[in-house]
Amino acid sequence: MKVPFLDIAAAHAELRGELDAAWNRVVDSAYFITGPELTAFEAAFAAYCGTRHCIGVGNGLDALSILLRAADIGEGDEVLVPSHTFIATWYAVTHVGATPVPVEINPTTYNLDPALIEQAITPRTRAIMPVHLYGQLAQMDEIRDIAQRHGLRVFEDAAQAVGATLHGERAGKFGDGAGFSFYPGKNLGALGDGGAIVTDDDELANRARTIRNYGSQKKYHHERIGYNTRLDELQAAFLHTKLATIDAWNDRRRKVATKYLDQLAGLDIVLPNVPAGHNPVWHLFVIRYSDRDCLRERLAEHGIETIIHYPIAPLQQPAYEHMDTQAAPLAEQTAAEVLSLPIGPHLTETQSDHVIATLKHILGV
Ligand SMILES: *Cc1c(COP(=O)(O)O)cnc(C)c1O
Repeated sequence: MKVPFLDIAAAHAELRGELDAAWNRVVDSAYFITGPELTAFEAAFAAYCGTRHCIGVGNGLDALSILLRAADIGEGDEVLVPSHTFIATWYAVTHVGATPVPVEINPTTYNLDPALIEQAITPRTRAIMPVHLYGQLAQMDEIRDIAQRHGLRVFEDAAQAVGATLHGERAGKFGDGAGFSFYPGKNLGALGDGGAIVTDDDELANRARTIRNYGSQKKYHHERIGYNTRLDELQAAFLHTKLATIDAWNDRRRKVATKYLDQLAGLDIVLPNVPAGHNPVWHLFVIRYSDRDCLRERLAEHGIETIIHYPIAPLQQPAYEHMDTQAAPLAEQTAAEVLSLPIGPHLTETQSDHVIATLKHILGV
């Protein structure tokens, strides 16, 4: 039996009629950039997140970079980031000229460890950028408390967490602003690249909207240096269509995760920890195992595709070779041990059964 890591073709087969209609609507309109589809999606996505504003951009990395730029964070400033995350979190900080300062993570939630944040704060620290990694919100109560005490801003990297909640409130609602990614493999995926900023802050929203569009609000009038990074009409139309199913599809992921948590308990692997009050959307279901590479090979022999998120810690990347900062041993260990099991709204009961039976077989139960 073959178990693909994620079946994007099945997702689009389910919605094919609606996606075709969205495509036809945009092609017929002959209007492709910053038009009615974008406006409509932005309103719908802001409503979904419970925020006043949404600004559609070209990708998740740009969403995060623009947030920082809109907050005037740049040269000489420091932003606290998790030591274990996708590289984009760090790049966003680097792209605006600021310095990413790693804070180690909790080894079972994989999110920023709030107990380690304060010791990383210096007079140059301007913001904290927690990541809701793998689809579970960071410890936002603690993080917001610390930020408030030290006068720091909080920007959520919510790229993996569309629809995830803490105390019933959705990702995007916990910081001064949040960045989302609609990369095709994300829970709410475009048919190409896409991203969005959400915020309740009117001024931040206004600046972000200007920055994404050549620093301009009025055609050929440029108030500030900007980017060209707008969510295009086609992607906005596709995303608006897919937004209608996000809760149902996230629920299907939750069903798979509950089954994994239930039936893999007791095996010699570390399962993800979900603290009270959290309702993750399981962008990824990540286990830890000391001999990870061997386990991955054995699973592949049984037709099960797994992926490693992420095999190299940001600090160990050649791109950050120049950084002179404290080591992050927890991030390195995490990178060496994590393994993401197949999960998604279109994983069948038979497929998840096969994953569970194979793991039990390999780990000798
Ligand atoms: C995907 C992702 C991003 C960046 O999104 P892109 O759309 O690929 O630019 C940022 N942070 C995290 C944690 C991500 O997973």
